[in-house]
Amino acid sequence: MTNTKVLLPCEVDIDKCIALNSSFNGARLDLDKLSRLQESCVAINGDVLATVNFAQDANGLRIVKGTCEADLVLICQRCGEQYVEHVISKFNFTPDYEKAKACNIEQKYDFIDLENGMVNLYDLIEDGLILEIPTVPKHDEDDEACTRHGDQWEYGELDKEATTNPFAALASLKESLANKQ
Ligand SMILES: [Zn+2]
Repeated sequence: MTNTKVLLPCEVDIDKCIALNSSFNGARLDLDKLSRLQESCVAINGDVLATVNFAQDANGLRIVKGTCEADLVLICQRCGEQYVEHVISKFNFTPDYEKAKACNIEQKYDFIDLENGMVNLYDLIEDGLILEIPTVPKHDEDDEACTRHGDQWEYGELDKEATTNPFAALASLKESLANKQ
């Protein structure tokens, strides 16, 4: 099966893209270039698709704006089984921090650094997607696929499990070191 979707380029020249009024609609990302996202989940299901627009706003700021969506396989922290989380990241970037600050609109945008006028689209999209991964991944509350669906379950239950263990290990290590002296 061949993938006919347009491949999103990794780096683009922001001025050229704005001048040409470029946009990408549902372009797929090369999964091999998303190693940090790969490491943040069990697997990526299907394509990671992005819509990216380039524009200049009313104040003359250069804007890279869009959304990206991915289906990520995560481990449910309730039942320990894999499930698919659909993550959507919206972004609105500008490299023109000084201008934004001068116009008092810096809270409207996130800021990116350009390298020789180039924007690394993959970096900013990947960061956005990773931020959308829930800190405590779990099936939806009413998802019957969750084997612990309907169980009484508290946030604290997991927190305790996840946070006390490393400290307990450290405490016992300290204890054994102290005993050696
Ligand atoms: Zn579950």
